[in-house]
Amino acid sequence: MTAEIICVGTELLLGDILNTNCHYLAQELAALGIPHYYQTVVGDNVARIHQVLEIAIKRSSILIFTGGLGPTPDDLTTEAIADYFQTPLEERSEVIDDIAQKFAKIGRKMISSNRKQALIPVGANILPNPTGTAPGMIWQIASNPDPVTILTFPGVPSEMQRMWQDTAIPFFKSLGWGQDIIYSKMLRFRGIGESSLAEKVNHLFKLTNPTVAPYASKGEVRLRISAKAPSEAEAIALIEPVAHQIQEIAGLDYFGTNEQSLTSVVGQLLRDRKETLAVAESCTGGGLGAILTEIPGSSDYFRGGVIAYANEVKQSLLQVSGDDLAQFGAVSDPVAQQMAIGVKKALNTSWGISITGIAGPGGGTEEKPVGLIYIGLASPDGTVESFEYRLGNVRGRSLNRHLTVCNALDLLRRKILIISTFIRI
Ligand code: ATP
Repeated sequence: MTAEIICVGTELLLGDILNTNCHYLAQELAALGIPHYYQTVVGDNVARIHQVLEIAIKRSSILIFTGGLGPTPDDLTTEAIADYFQTPLEERSEVIDDIAQKFAKIGRKMISSNRKQALIPVGANILPNPTGTAPGMIWQIASNPDPVTILTFPGVPSEMQRMWQDTAIPFFKSLGWGQDIIYSKMLRFRGIGESSLAEKVNHLFKLTNPTVAPYASKGEVRLRISAKAPSEAEAIALIEPVAHQIQEIAGLDYFGTNEQSLTSVVGQLLRDRKETLAVAESCTGGGLGAILTEIPGSSDYFRGGVIAYANEVKQSLLQVSGDDLAQFGAVSDPVAQQMAIGVKKALNTSWGISITGIAGPGGGTEEKPVGLIYIGLASPDGTVESFEYRLGNVRGRSLNRHLTVCNALDLLRRKILIISTFIRI
């Protein structure tokens, strides 16, 4: 048994509204463990709904329609479906009574166009709509060469969701679905491209339970491991060995799970080690400090920072050497290192991170192009290192600055993990 979601509405095709019904239903089907391979959007047009049905009944046995159940002439989902299966519509008195009562409650008389909503194909069951006037239907069509079940819901998301929860879920459970749950774990990576990671874990993509799949996410590589099992504990037991394998393969490129962000992971590492951090930022203008302080409780480990945009500030507040500034320029290894040491000293912290670079779009030279960034890292043992990045000029200033902030956090994360492993050994 496989399901297909069919959303009816010309406004969906025009892009006037987002297809949130489809999003909702897709998640619900996954939660019930009902396989679903196709989603279709079709306009308010009988011939085209027929074409969709023609294809859908051959490849899916549960068709879930939303939209087009209203009283107006362009709401034609029910009649299009009935017509396709050459089944007459009958007016259901219980629906008429229900609509009339709903109108009476708000002191109005039911208008004649609402009678249309009481027309249901002969043999279909009503799927009640407790919050609106348009009921849906559950129609098990045994006469079709391959038995097919059709469920219809109104387009209004709140009505559709209530009907799904109240009636559709119990219906599917009565058919034996929903005994298993789908549980997923998201693994998050930094410092490795999606295709490189995919190559390393390629053998795991063939697994069927749990499944492993890349998950598209802006600026970050993620893998989602999903298992189907009777309980969450059993699903987790299936997921964990695979998650462990992937973490081993990815090494330091793996940074967190589910909602853990780079910032929260770094914060936790510092908190666990009872260490503190200060930042000195030039081209990111406080972006690193801002992201660090997005985490509640970051005052446990983040002391503060210096936005050292001008060279005079680098010299006066961070003790960067004027000679080095003149000789190597503000965007250089020695300056990044001195900024990191300077801020660590000034704010009396365990770690100091500095950022100096050319975010763009202007300001680049042949020797020092846009996107050239140095990140300095002063460690608790008194050593200092710096790292060069060449981000180029294509991403734009804002993304270059964001990537730099993430790179700085990631450097610190890797450094702490390397130190911790070394100490543990
Ligand atoms: P009604 O009788 O209340 O008009 P209906 O079944 O005829 O319900 P539509 O007229 O197709 O539904 O849609 C009603 C409203 O529901 C739309 O204007 C839109 O705001 C919303 N809607 C419809 N389809 C979707 C969808 N797939 N995702 C999100 N919202 C939707």
